[in-house]
Amino acid sequence: MSALRSLILAAADSPRLQRLGQKYGFRLGAARFVAGQNLDEAVPVLRRLNESGLLTNTTLLGEGVGAEAETRAVVAAYREVLDRIHAEGLRTNLAVKLTHLGLSIDENLARRNVADLVEHAALRGNFVRIDMEESRHVDATLRIYRALREGGHENVGAVLQSYLFRSEDDLAALLPLAPNLRLVKGAYLEPPDIAYPRKADVDAAYVSLLETSLAGGGFTAVATHDETLIEHAIAFAREHGIPKERFEFQMLYGVRPRLQLDLVRRGFDVLVATPYGPEWYRYLMRRLAERPANLLFLLRNLLRG
Ligand SMILES: Cc1cc2nc3c(=O)[nH]c(=O)nc-3n(C[C@H](O)[C@H](O)[C@H](O)COP(=O)(O)OP(=O)(O)OC[C@H]3O[C@@H](n4cnc5c(N)ncnc54)[C@H](O)[C@@H]3O)c2cc1C
Repeated sequence: MSALRSLILAAADSPRLQRLGQKYGFRLGAARFVAGQNLDEAVPVLRRLNESGLLTNTTLLGEGVGAEAETRAVVAAYREVLDRIHAEGLRTNLAVKLTHLGLSIDENLARRNVADLVEHAALRGNFVRIDMEESRHVDATLRIYRALREGGHENVGAVLQSYLFRSEDDLAALLPLAPNLRLVKGAYLEPPDIAYPRKADVDAAYVSLLETSLAGGGFTAVATHDETLIEHAIAFAREHGIPKERFEFQMLYGVRPRLQLDLVRRGFDVLVATPYGPEWYRYLMRRLAERPANLLFLLRNLLRG
């Protein structure tokens, strides 16, 4: 892993930098990756993406909540988002983080909160994806996903990260559920005893997860901007007769927009992850760590004043 990536990811957890970033960052360029500071600002962005043929998900940014009352406010906000999506007729689902819903406080609290959202989403014909966070949360996250599925909820999905050694086993364990899985490389700072430090190994592991998931009975969300992997997914699906309804591509708002539309033109479903909210600092830092050249983009905005 590059030293710069580690440095940026370490800065993501610094409260001091967070305060500074929060003050100036939106002006500096966070708006490239975040659809707005609130839902009213995000809705027109989601609508515009939908109108250009893209599916979307949205997330109220926030993570690592430490007070139960705060998680209740997050649930209430997400219920409102689901109602608004329904009322506006958007092709948008939800992606949530369990630490935003209380996982760092109590697993049962997070489980109840996410179950509430999954049930509310089902009433609205919608779907909830549970993002994957730092490795210390993987066991609990997968336990909660499994409990929801075994409890009869079909409108919920999970995420596996190819940088973790364990993901191959996790995928094998989940396949009997015919899961809806998003595959990603992984965005956090993880130690080399549990995660591949070399990008080439992360990419190779992604190929392996991708093939296993596509060949399994579930639905695969191929979440990457890596064109080699995208073309591999398309070729593998074609060779194995896997219909387009069994997978989609997912990318981030503000990243490779032309590639997103090219894939739509080729007849594939593409979902753009389009978060909003005032707590965007950590999200932005992860986007910078993925591509340190994005720092130049921020600096250019700073110089322009
Ligand atoms: C829809 C979606 C959901 C995700 N959910 C999770 C999650 O739940 N948990 C998790 O750990 N991670 C998540 N990620 C992040 C993921 O783990 C990677 O960090 C991120 O996608 C970058 O890796 P890549 O696969 O695009 O490939 P890379 O090899 O990193 O990048 C390939 C190319 O894509 C472009 N690119 C990639 N990232 C950026 C960027 N930030 N800015 C500009 N260009 C870029 C560059 O051109 C780069 O050369 C998600 C990613 C996506 C797209």
